[in-house]
Amino acid sequence: LDPTTKGYNSEELDLEKRLRPLSFDDFAGQDQVLENLKVFVAAANQRGEALDHALFHGPPGLGKTTLANILANELEVGIKITSGPVLDKPGDLAGLLTNLDERDVLFIDEIHRLSPVVEEYLYSAMEDFKIDIMIESGPNARTVQINLNPFTLIGATTRSGLLTAPMRARFGISSRLQYYTTELLTTIVERSASILKMPIALDAAIEIAGRSRGTPRIANALLRRVRDFAQIKGNGTIDLEIARYALKALNVDAHGLDEMDNKILLTIINKFKGGPVGLSTLATAVSESSETIEEVYEPFLIQEGFIMRTPRGREVTDKAYKHLGKINTNIQGG
Ligand code: ADP
Repeated sequence: LDPTTKGYNSEELDLEKRLRPLSFDDFAGQDQVLENLKVFVAAANQRGEALDHALFHGPPGLGKTTLANILANELEVGIKITSGPVLDKPGDLAGLLTNLDERDVLFIDEIHRLSPVVEEYLYSAMEDFKIDIMIESGPNARTVQINLNPFTLIGATTRSGLLTAPMRARFGISSRLQYYTTELLTTIVERSASILKMPIALDAAIEIAGRSRGTPRIANALLRRVRDFAQIKGNGTIDLEIARYALKALNVDAHGLDEMDNKILLTIINKFKGGPVGLSTLATAVSESSETIEEVYEPFLIQEGFIMRTPRGREVTDKAYKHLGKINTNIQGG
């Protein structure tokens, strides 16, 4: 399984590629991150140097891979793409590194999943643009040091907490991506619809955006499904009516929460009387790791006001009860 496909079939993947912004100007949101990157890229271009190594962290689907590709485009260099779990041995990495041209970008997705030996091997490549490679084997085996072209490593991770301190310290640039507002997602949905040559009404774009869990990848995926409904059951344009019809048929949650989001809320309500409950207890109850809950699910649930973090643990809010059609028996009357 190619981890860069994120479980899509080839047609979906092709569409996802077409929808991917290629330049800073196409990329919506993340203003602060973008402002800084523009300065760093302009400076690197002016000096003719490789951009500093950059780390992007944040939940899946927010644009980390997209940004890596945009940086390569804006630096006018090539990009090689791989991912942590694919790089088994230092040899795999050596092959990639020695094939980089000057200033090229090497993108490593899921960089927190590099094996310790590969990670260690990366350190000298990042720091001095040098690696040791083993030549020959048996009694003649020896290592030689070779110089690499200066390059930019871009790492992406959903789990910055799992990155080792020495790894983290080797990135000169480190940016956290945030969830997108419905307004920003609306512009992304409109842009994608126009690339797909699908007319869409503003209120329909807003409806799709609002149910996309703050995530461009989800917004684009929903748009593609709604487009199918508009084509087959509608009149070929996406209006609010067909958007609502499609989202209902697709069982998309009113707030765009996914299965695990809802499981977390339901578990806190049903098993822990709405909380507070400690992170590790909650993690065990929903069969997910504490880190994933903390770094992938919780930020969105907190931002949208479904969960509160208190000194005694996680508590659901009234909004969560309402969302799940449950009655909050803890509410003090009055
Ligand atoms: P990540 O690497 O963080 O999981 P991706 O970069 O693969 O996320 O983004 C998923 C998809 O979402 C991309 O194919 C792209 O079409 C879209 N996307 C992400 N960020 C943006 C953005 N800021 N503006 C427009 N589209 C975006």
